[in-house]
Amino acid sequence: MLLPIASTATVRATAARLIRRHRGALSVVLALHTLAAVAGLAGPALIGVIIDGVTGGTLVSAGIDTIALVLLAAIVAQALLTRFAQRQSMVLGEGVFASLREEFLATVARLPLSTVEAAGTGDLLARTTNDIQSVAQTVRFGVPRILVAGVTAVLTVVAAFVVNPAVAVGMFAGVPILVVATRWYLKRSGPGYQRQLASYATLGGAISETVDGVRTIEALSLAPAQRSKVDAALRERRESEWYTLWLRSWFFPMTDISFLLPVIVVLAWGAFLVGSGAASIGAVTAVALYAMQLVSPVDELISWLDEIQVGTTALSRIIGVADVPEDRHATGETPADEHVVASDVRYAYREGVEVLHGVSLDLAVGERLAIVGPSGSGKSTLGRLMAGITEPTSGRVTVGGVRLVDLPLDDLRSHVALVTQEHHVFVGTIADNLSLARPGAGRDELARALRVVDALRWVAAMPKGLDTVVGSGGVVLTPAQAQQLALARLVLLDPHTLILDEATSLLDPTAARDLERAMNRVLEGRTVVAIAHRLHTAHDADRIAVVRDGYVDELGSHDELVAAGGAYAELWASWHGGGR
Ligand code: ADP
Repeated sequence: MLLPIASTATVRATAARLIRRHRGALSVVLALHTLAAVAGLAGPALIGVIIDGVTGGTLVSAGIDTIALVLLAAIVAQALLTRFAQRQSMVLGEGVFASLREEFLATVARLPLSTVEAAGTGDLLARTTNDIQSVAQTVRFGVPRILVAGVTAVLTVVAAFVVNPAVAVGMFAGVPILVVATRWYLKRSGPGYQRQLASYATLGGAISETVDGVRTIEALSLAPAQRSKVDAALRERRESEWYTLWLRSWFFPMTDISFLLPVIVVLAWGAFLVGSGAASIGAVTAVALYAMQLVSPVDELISWLDEIQVGTTALSRIIGVADVPEDRHATGETPADEHVVASDVRYAYREGVEVLHGVSLDLAVGERLAIVGPSGSGKSTLGRLMAGITEPTSGRVTVGGVRLVDLPLDDLRSHVALVTQEHHVFVGTIADNLSLARPGAGRDELARALRVVDALRWVAAMPKGLDTVVGSGGVVLTPAQAQQLALARLVLLDPHTLILDEATSLLDPTAARDLERAMNRVLEGRTVVAIAHRLHTAHDADRIAVVRDGYVDELGSHDELVAAGGAYAELWASWHGGGR
């Protein structure tokens, strides 16, 4: 299962929304580019005036000097305006990209955990890295360049028409060739370059496999097979490169022709018009110069088309993440008490393959229940259901009579929390790291939570106390300190029931004793379900549930189960007697 990809309509709507949000900045950028382009267009028109003046004998040298000065001023103005326009475009690009990234992060943070797990983190990671990178490239460099090139191209055509519409019509001579050639190329270039990239990956894989496995290849006489594999990869790479080269070998000459054709047509057509008296030599010169000036912006626009295609694909993958459906809809019911019950819970990851076959557990408020059993028996799955992360396939897990999956997520976490290996320190202040668990918590609340987990002393000793910046780039915390922060978050979250998956829990077996003490203080007064992978945890629990093949086989206190002489008694005897 992969995360969704946004439709073209959604991508367009998002782009429109981004443009609307940055309307002000966009207008400034467009205005600057327009002014710069206008300044740049003065040249040909002025040269035309000089030519007509000189050939007509109406212009003397003083006049030429003045026009030359105006020309110089226009060039200086163009340079200055272009600089500011480019700068503002870059700022705009960064702004757009920042909003996009912020929205994306907010979406990712809201994603249902079950979806992320089902899709695997690889897909999400590719979208947060490669795709964001690709969009960033397009937005940062593409948007400014496209704006400049677009505005310049349009204004150049406008200027030519202002000089002489009849002559300017000739500028469009190259359009048919350009349109046909570009469409032909774009249709083939995307798949062509993708195939080329894939062939690099295949060849790289084949070669490194050969090198890494050289002993195996020799031992099993696989050399001929391996050689033909590498040969095939090489052939594919050569063919794919030939293909894109062939595309370029047609496309570039075609664009060159479509760029030069207008100049020739303007001159020939212009000569005819001069002969019939409909245009002056100066006007034809000016329009021909405009036709030549048009080449570079149009060329630039075409070269960005490819990039835009890649960027749009990446954008649709980024926006698509927002299309993940909610995995729960709050019903608005409020739990009557803190009593957590699982009744006849079944669960199947894949349809028809049940891993839990009707588990019922009634947790007494404040009790400590250990779940033990062989690996693969369904302990972790049960833990996730009891923490409300996934909905059971059938049966229900409730708190105070309300199904866990019917509670809004924020609310759910204040009832039941799954404790995982939260060693992660977020970049930010210590206060930021803590208030993630309870936004808006006062500083005294934060301090109290830190005191519970014995962390207040070292935090107070930090250069800026709660406001010390930690995480990468800031103060680096020790693993024990990071664990204490995670525990303090749990104190702030204050759920009455904790599901502790020992395999991934905070309880690092090598953890210092004081950390364990802090942990115990956090567990105090709460209902705890501990998925035990070590039997001594089970021994200390009020009750023990032995899970085997998706069933609760035995349920009772340590003494009861040992006395009963079942599976647990056996496990205990072998573990306790046989040395650990
Ligand atoms: P335990 O925690 O007791 O080791 P689990 O709850 O992790 O057991 O696994 C129970 C069964 O469910 C196993 O057969 C395991 O292969 C299967 N299982 C666990 N996670 C997944 C998953 N994400 N997709 C498919 N099957 C899974």
